[in-house]
Amino acid sequence: ELGQTLERMAQTLRDQLPASRSGERGWVPPGTHPDPRPPDEADVVVVGGGVVGWSVAYWLKVLEGRRRHGMKVLVVERDPTYSRASTVLSAGGIRQQFSLRENIQMSRFSASFLRDINEHLGVPNEPPIDIQFQPSGYLFLASPQNAAALEATVQLQRDEGAQVTLLSPTQLKTKFPWINTEDVAVASYGLEDEGWFDPWTLLNAFRRKAISLGVQSCSGEVRGFVTSTNHMMPPGPSSARIKYVHVYMPDSLEYQPVACAIVVNAAGAWAGKLLEADGLPRGLCRPSLPIQPRKRYVFTWHCPNGPGLSCPFLVDTSGAYFRRDGFAGNYLGGMSPPEEEEPDPSDLSVDHDYFQEQIWPRLARRVPAFESLRVRGSWAGYYDYNTFDQNGVLGPHPRLENLFLAAGFSGHGLQHAPATGRAMAELLIKGRYETLDLRRLGWDRLVDGEPLEEHAVV
Ligand SMILES: Cc1cc2nc3c(=O)[nH]c(=O)nc-3n(C[C@H](O)[C@H](O)[C@H](O)COP(=O)(O)OP(=O)(O)OC[C@H]3O[C@@H](n4cnc5c(N)ncnc54)[C@H](O)[C@@H]3O)c2cc1C
Repeated sequence: ELGQTLERMAQTLRDQLPASRSGERGWVPPGTHPDPRPPDEADVVVVGGGVVGWSVAYWLKVLEGRRRHGMKVLVVERDPTYSRASTVLSAGGIRQQFSLRENIQMSRFSASFLRDINEHLGVPNEPPIDIQFQPSGYLFLASPQNAAALEATVQLQRDEGAQVTLLSPTQLKTKFPWINTEDVAVASYGLEDEGWFDPWTLLNAFRRKAISLGVQSCSGEVRGFVTSTNHMMPPGPSSARIKYVHVYMPDSLEYQPVACAIVVNAAGAWAGKLLEADGLPRGLCRPSLPIQPRKRYVFTWHCPNGPGLSCPFLVDTSGAYFRRDGFAGNYLGGMSPPEEEEPDPSDLSVDHDYFQEQIWPRLARRVPAFESLRVRGSWAGYYDYNTFDQNGVLGPHPRLENLFLAAGFSGHGLQHAPATGRAMAELLIKGRYETLDLRRLGWDRLVDGEPLEEHAVV
């Protein structure tokens, strides 16, 4: 009798598991899927398995509710090692200090999500998630020319509920005695919900949870589409729907067509390139998506007499930035180059002269102790750079009816991934944004030629 009771309980539990509700397979162990090949069909195909793609997939399963037949969500990732993905090559920072209201709101949502990450992304019988969050404010330094703009931005951040304080040069020197305050008129310093964390852990946590909720994933590259065009408005087709996504198998010329209802372009720095893939009517892809890979270097160095434990994530008047990296006198930092000096993005090699000639002098000027730093390492990654206005493009494509965009975050996509995924899932499932109104991040601004600029791009 006890055995029968236990079996009934086990069956009840199995029925509660989301993957069982879809009526297909039983529970899928987190982190693996028995079939890495693409299925023949999916309700939603998410192209790109970086932090944004997996966040979208996770939120779709969360918001689908307890429907009898769960939504079939497929994440397609071409590189299971993530060797060039922006997510794992990022600096891991989160801040509230943006100049655009939507970006501040997304940061606030994400900070709260990360604080309760185990409630959101914890998986039964799996170890708890530790993203190694290091709470530490961002410290933006402004020159006399930029002081008024910084003060106005801080007011906006406060209006949105962010805890940010302004520091005069004297206050700055008192709080951070190791700073040279020359040419600094004012500084803004985040008092909560800022710091940095391990991006890889966040990506994995989204992936593990999404898979436990029934999301499928496969290795392969989306290189083509099949569309059906809508000829309602002459001359020529006015819009089209994607019917199939062609997923090319790794190291093969073979592809698997996946029939789908919705496609989400979460291909990061390659989101623009994806819209040039075979099968998409060229005329309908105008204006082209202005997202491209831009190479950014990160250098790490050792400096035993540097700022130490109180070191914030400092963004200098010159654009150079740095933060602490662990507790042993190590730091990391970098600097975006001016537009005309963008490095060749064809590979991820590092230009060491860039540190010696451009970054180091700026660092040493701001923190004299850095004159004696010793470089320890470096890497390069791609910003998913939106050349139009350095902000994410979120929402439906104007003429490819079932294609949705979630890319182009230009150096702040990691921290906004929890909010991006939620917003995209709301749009797809409920037909509108509910938590945050992100309509201004949509395609319209590209079509209308009206940039929505973010001034605090690091
Ligand atoms: C040096 C550096 C520092 C950064 N620092 C920060 C920071 O401090 N804070 C912050 O918030 N952000 C930061 N960023 C930006 C952040 O990393 C990105 O905005 C974010 O990771 C974008 O996530 P994603 O999922 O869109 O892109 P990715 O992580 O690049 O994922 C996209 C994935 O799509 C895959 N893909 C592309 N095309 C296809 C295709 N056709 N078929 C199948 N798969 C495809 C790629 O292989 C890739 O894995 C930094 C970036 C860099 C490079």
